[in-house]
Amino acid sequence: MPLSTWPKLFRSYKDARVFFISISFAVILVLAFISFNRYRTVNHLLVQTMRHEAESFANLIIIARHWNAAYGGVYVVKKPVDRPTPHLRDAGNEPDIRTSDGRVLTLKNPAIMTREISEITSSGDLVRFHMISMKPLNPDNKPDAFEYDALLQFERGSSSHWAIDRDRPDPLFRFIHPLKVEKPCLQCHAKQGYKEGDIRGAVSIMIPASDLLQQMRRNATQKVMDFLIAVGLLLAILYFLTWKLFVKLDEVQRRLKLLAVTDELTGLRNRRFIMEQLEKEYQRAVRAGTPLSVMILDIDHFKRVNDNYGHVFGDQVLKAVAQEMEKSLRAYDLLGRIGGEEFLIASPGSSLDDAAALAERIRDRIKGRTIANHAHKVKMTISAGVTSLGEHDGKMNSLLIRADDALYQAKQQGRDRVITL
Ligand code: GH3
Ligand code: MG
Ligand code: MG
Repeated sequence: MPLSTWPKLFRSYKDARVFFISISFAVILVLAFISFNRYRTVNHLLVQTMRHEAESFANLIIIARHWNAAYGGVYVVKKPVDRPTPHLRDAGNEPDIRTSDGRVLTLKNPAIMTREISEITSSGDLVRFHMISMKPLNPDNKPDAFEYDALLQFERGSSSHWAIDRDRPDPLFRFIHPLKVEKPCLQCHAKQGYKEGDIRGAVSIMIPASDLLQQMRRNATQKVMDFLIAVGLLLAILYFLTWKLFVKLDEVQRRLKLLAVTDELTGLRNRRFIMEQLEKEYQRAVRAGTPLSVMILDIDHFKRVNDNYGHVFGDQVLKAVAQEMEKSLRAYDLLGRIGGEEFLIASPGSSLDDAAALAERIRDRIKGRTIANHAHKVKMTISAGVTSLGEHDGKMNSLLIRADDALYQAKQQGRDRVITL
C-alpha cells in the first residue's frame, strides 16, 4: 500500500502501520482457519448424514434377506413374468409348487427377492441399490470399477466404502456395504468355494446427491461470506482501536518530549534545551550577520529566602520570578532556567542596547512585585549581565563567559542592577 494512501497518523508512525498490518494479518489467518474448519465440519456432517441414511438402507436389505434365508426362501403366487431360476433347482429346491386349490406358487430366495426389490427402486428417483459380487451367479451382479475397488478393500478388512460421484449429470452418493457368508448362503454359494465369514459380495447403494452437493456449495458460500463479514468488522474495529492507541501514544510522546526540555519547577525551558537553542541562534546570527544578545539573570540573596522562610517558599519565589521574566519577553526571545536561581535569555535580532533595556524592564518588574504566601511576604531584586555577539566571538561560549562576567560585576557593584559588556 503506497504511503500516501494511509491517513496522517499512520503515515507518520511506521510502527502504527506495522502494528496494524501484523495484527490484521494474524486476524485474517485465524479467521480463515476457523472458517475453513467450520466449513469442513458442516460438510463432514452433511456427508455423515447421507452415509447413515445409506447404511440404514443397506441394513434393512440385509435384515430382509436374513428373514428370507431363515425360511430357506419363501413361496409367493407366481406371476406370468416370473421365470424359473436354474440356480434354485441346482441347489436342490423346487422352484414352483401347486397348491390344493390349483394356484401355482414360486420360490423367491434372498437373491431373487433382493433383485426384484432393486428393480422396483431403480424405476424411481430415490435410493437405488443392487447386489454385487466378485464371482456373481447372476451376470447383472458384476461390479463396476468403483464397486470392484470397494470389494478389494473389503477383502483387506475395510468395513464400508463411500464416494460422491460428481462426474455425471445426476450426481450420486455411492455407498457399498459388505456381505459376509452366513450358513444359509452356503446352500447356493458353497460350490463357488465360499466359507462362512468370507466376503461374498456387497450391497451397492446409490442416492441422488444433487441436494447434498447444493448444500455443500451453500455451506462454502456461507462460510466465505461469514469470513468476509467477520474480517471486515474486525479490521474496522482494529483500525479504530489502533488509531485510538496511536493518538494516545502520540499525545504521550509529545508530553514526554516537552518534559525532556522543560524545567520541572518553573515550567521554563531547561538548561540543556536553552543551550542547544542558543548554539543554533549563534550559528544563524554568525551566518546571517544579524545581532544576537545574551543575558544571565540571577536572583539577589536568594539563599536568605531559603534560610529564613524555608525551601518551599523559596520554590514559590523561583516560580514567581520566572513568571515575571516570561511576561516581559518578546515573541522571539528564548528564556530558560540554567541553574538554581539563575536564568538565561537569548534575544535574536536585539542589539546590546535593546537587550539591556529588556533586562532593565525585567529587573523593574521583579522589584515591583511582592511575592507572598499565607505566611510570608518578600520583595526580590535581580542582577543581570548582558552582552551581544561581537566580531571576535569565535564561539558561543565567549558570549556566555562575557555575560557571566557582567553578572559578576553587577553583584560586585551592589546587586539590583544590569551591567553590559
Ligand atoms: P547572590 O546574591 O550572590 O546571588 O546570593 P544568593 O544567595 O542568591 O546565591 P547563592 O549562590 O549563595 O545561593 C543560591 C541558593 O539557591 C542556594 C541554593 O540552596 C538555592 N537553590 C538552588 N536551587 C534551588 C531550588 O530549586 N529551590 C530552592 N528553594 N532553592 C534553590
Ligand atoms: Mg543569587
Ligand atoms: Mg546564583
